[in-house]
Amino acid sequence: MLLPEESVVHGSSAEPHTSNAARPQDLPALDRLLRLSAVQALVMAHGHTLVAQTARALLTELRALAVAGGLGVDALAPDALADALARRVHERLAPRMRTVLNLTGTVLHTNLGRALLPEAAIAHIAAMMAAPNNLEFDLVTGRRGDRDSIVEGLLCELTGAEAATVVNNNAAAVLLTLAALASGREVIVSRGELVEIGGAFRMPDVMQSAGARLVEVGTTNRTHPRDYEGAIGEHTALLMKVHTSNYQVQGFTSAVAEAQLAPIAAAHGLPLVTDLGSGALIDLSAYGLPLEPTPRQMLADGCALVTFSGDKLLGGPQAGLIVGRKDLVARIKAHPMKRALRMSKLPLAALEATLRLYLRPERLTQDLPTLRLLTRPLAAIEATARAAAPALQVALAPRYSVQQVALQGQIGSGSLPVERLPSSGLALAPVDTAGTGRALEALCAALRALPMPVIGRIHEDRLLLDMRCLERPAQLLDQIGLLRLPGKR
Ligand SMILES: *Cc1c(COP(=O)(O)O)cnc(C)c1O
Repeated sequence: MLLPEESVVHGSSAEPHTSNAARPQDLPALDRLLRLSAVQALVMAHGHTLVAQTARALLTELRALAVAGGLGVDALAPDALADALARRVHERLAPRMRTVLNLTGTVLHTNLGRALLPEAAIAHIAAMMAAPNNLEFDLVTGRRGDRDSIVEGLLCELTGAEAATVVNNNAAAVLLTLAALASGREVIVSRGELVEIGGAFRMPDVMQSAGARLVEVGTTNRTHPRDYEGAIGEHTALLMKVHTSNYQVQGFTSAVAEAQLAPIAAAHGLPLVTDLGSGALIDLSAYGLPLEPTPRQMLADGCALVTFSGDKLLGGPQAGLIVGRKDLVARIKAHPMKRALRMSKLPLAALEATLRLYLRPERLTQDLPTLRLLTRPLAAIEATARAAAPALQVALAPRYSVQQVALQGQIGSGSLPVERLPSSGLALAPVDTAGTGRALEALCAALRALPMPVIGRIHEDRLLLDMRCLERPAQLLDQIGLLRLPGKR
């Protein structure tokens, strides 16, 4: 016999109760909930396991609420229960990693995933991951191959290096290089270059993890060639330079450039290793951007090895690249840690496709999103801000004002920290200046809650939306149409 759904859910509680609060015994049993027709549709779409598991969790929570007296009977109506269950099922199936609109003004934002991959890299990943490939198989000899060989030739060509190898990220590249070349021995570094690069990557700690002994020379602001020379001894494994990419010491400063240090290292038969961090493969000053040393320049200046990141200025996937002398690269590749830090086929496919774009430098500002965004004409950014302003004004009035403003963006990821990129965007400010902080927080939260979250930056009581990285204004306009501010109909 089929009962009307109302009674299926509410069961057969005898005592009538008058209040609006549901009691624990008013909750349906799991199998009754699963028999609701709307829930049956969910089971058809997603299978019994997920729906039943989610329903059980829902009932457990509702029971706790009912026991606490905080559950209204309305929440137990069949439609309400089915809706709540459907919402939870969809929520569990929704990815936690989502795309956002980066309106922070920082092009290589570490918290937002750094470099955007070029289309060619995305296409190559999709093609390579969907089928077996020759990751470690030599198609000429039919023998086992080396995954590094997929990109080694390109890296040598683009940097002028004799040899190259790749690992998971640049932190791994530094760790592996030190472990392979300096374990149990000394590494000489300037005090001004003992950097921390966010999170747990501090040069002195990396040295220790690699089993190398750090020998600090010079002072925070000044280090001279004689400082290095005086520290070289029988236990020295190498001299190291670290590109201070995320800060700058200004004023009475002096550092020993690679070109100056290389002859000193060579005179003692020691390698000079440079951790370049960002490592642009091309001369950015040719594009009107600040000059950043390239791996090619560092090698030409006499460095034995250079390490750099794949997802900073290079504009590719997360990767650590090590380029330089053949004998040293061979020792690095032979170290057991190389196997643990090796790159997976997924970013390797992306890296190869990204590096190949550099063979056509004239097209780079189109093909490489990082360079495209960094060189985006100011007029285009201003036009985007102008196009977005009216919709935002409508959506935010009367609580917030919207004003087009000139902004200063940055490259990000520790690249060229003091340089600013002239940009344009919108400044959103609460009209009622009492409670500005809370009003701004509410606005940020509403923007973050959008299907494609919109991320800006707060500066001096205003939320700034920098339009440099918004190449398709429609993406923002679509989201603004969905914006729901608290307290607004
Ligand atoms: C960013 C950076 C690193 C770390 O690179 P990841 O690819 O993020 O691991 C190391 N050294 C320097 C100088 C850096 O700028």
